[in-house]
Amino acid sequence: MPMQNRDAEEVLKDAVRKGLLMMWQEENEDHERHEGEYYPSSIGSCIRKQYYEYTKPMPPSPETLAIFATGEGVHEAVAESLKRSGEVIVNHTELPIKLRITEEIELSGRVDILLAEILGKKAVVEVKSTSSIPSEPYESHMLQLQTYLHALAIDTGFMLYWDKRTGNIESFMVKRDDIWLRRAGERVVILHEHIKKKAPPIKEAFEEGRYWECDQCAYLDDCEPFSLLGVAKGSNIAVYGIEFQNGVIIPEIKNISAKIINSKSQDNTVIILCDTDLQASNVALYLKNENIKYDLLYTKPQRFRSGIAWKLELIKRLSERYRIRYFADSSQKVLELARPFVISSEAV
Ligand code: SF4
Repeated sequence: MPMQNRDAEEVLKDAVRKGLLMMWQEENEDHERHEGEYYPSSIGSCIRKQYYEYTKPMPPSPETLAIFATGEGVHEAVAESLKRSGEVIVNHTELPIKLRITEEIELSGRVDILLAEILGKKAVVEVKSTSSIPSEPYESHMLQLQTYLHALAIDTGFMLYWDKRTGNIESFMVKRDDIWLRRAGERVVILHEHIKKKAPPIKEAFEEGRYWECDQCAYLDDCEPFSLLGVAKGSNIAVYGIEFQNGVIIPEIKNISAKIINSKSQDNTVIILCDTDLQASNVALYLKNENIKYDLLYTKPQRFRSGIAWKLELIKRLSERYRIRYFADSSQKVLELARPFVISSEAV
């Protein structure tokens, strides 16, 4: 390829990156971070990530810029479509928001929202592009929309989801509700207290099974949600899927116990149990009573309806950091799906 073409191609790519970064900075300079002042559109995202954003600001990752650009584009396209339709009046596409939570804490910033009149009624429309439309609005989106409704004293809001793969559109009408205001208030107070104490909060997105949020998080290397405390990268681990039926552990307790002891005797393998049913404290007690030794117990977050999907997602991420020497489970399906990520597997 002639040198000139190559140069022109590089110039083009760099120009897009540079321009996007400038747009992102412009948007973010508007809400430079100060202790006690928090940004309404972030309130539903991982509380630990918000903590890092205040205490350790970082330039955006390429993924963040891509998400930002998609969001901007979709917001503009929806605003323009509504205006052209003649059926909905769009009064604002961006507004300053201020909501006092306590004497020291305020939610404030300029946010991209649509303030519209639909069938003669004022409403806030919050637009999200998504890769699959949920059956109800996500909690993080509700927190955001409810914050806007309270700050603007408007009763009605709409969560508008646009599926970027299929083009499907879904809208959910919501009413202003004080329960959400309290929930947003509690979150921002927790964030504020942690920032004041300079102590990171829990790894919320990880604990709640929002692994995709961790995958896109600029602070993944600081937070290390999928790393096992004190276990060096590349170490051997063994993963056992366990579940309870009528109060009895499946697979049969002695069987799994023997396998765990066997794994332990081989090259210090770290033993991880994945439980899909019970509360971690109940399971831990049960395992203690049965004298089953293990290094770490994971319990399925509620967000995952399917235990198979959860174990698979967890195993994928663990395999990026460790050598999964052995994986045992009672489900043939999960064993099959996990095969690319583990060295050996077995049905138990
Ligand atoms: S890596 Fe996950 S848990 Fe940690 S801060 Fe980021 S989103 Fe939160």
